[in-house]
Amino acid sequence: MTDFVFAPMATPTLPVTGRAALFPIARVFCIGRNYRWSSDEPAPQAMPAWFMKPATAVVPAAHHLPYPPGTAEFCHEVELVVAIGRGGRDIDPAQVEDRHIWGYAVGLDMTRRDMQQAAKRVGGPWEPAKAFDRGAPCSPITPVTTCGHPREGSIRLAVNGLERQQADLSDLLWPVPELVAMLSRSVMLMAGDLIFTGTPAGVGPLHPGDVVSASVAGLNEFSLTVTP
Ligand code: MN
Repeated sequence: MTDFVFAPMATPTLPVTGRAALFPIARVFCIGRNYRWSSDEPAPQAMPAWFMKPATAVVPAAHHLPYPPGTAEFCHEVELVVAIGRGGRDIDPAQVEDRHIWGYAVGLDMTRRDMQQAAKRVGGPWEPAKAFDRGAPCSPITPVTTCGHPREGSIRLAVNGLERQQADLSDLLWPVPELVAMLSRSVMLMAGDLIFTGTPAGVGPLHPGDVVSASVAGLNEFSLTVTP
């Protein structure tokens, strides 16, 4: 048996809809702008950028969402999350759905927007804005065997009952198979990887006491209360 100088941390996990077994998380990839935020926006020519969050940033979306340190602009981004069940490199987009996707979830790509704007101004890295503790609350993962591959249907987020973000999954500029294939040409994907697929228009700040609710048709919805 391997000795460690201290006990290694437990693998981050998410619950699975309808099963006791947990989904072990490997890594978290986040796709940049992947919906039109205004109707006159030109169609993108290049695939969106991507960035990462640590697996430890993923927490089950339940009860509370603590306001993180170092920001005055803590923003919500509701996203469809793809859970990879079988990795690979140079994956053929036509094989993504049948061979590589294990399930889907609803996630929040929480963002310290003031830090992101500051980073953009100086061309600095986005990690302080994106890769913070508990910055990726996520619903339980629903297996493909239950939900299929959601390619249309509402994605929405409300704050204190007022709708802030609403779009349809068919509005995704780059569809899920293309996103998975793109990532697999850049890194070797692994079972347990999560991919946040981008957020529709309407992102905005949250404040302590706010109740944020998020849903994607056919997946688990959730509500969180922002705590100081
Ligand atoms: Mn995002």
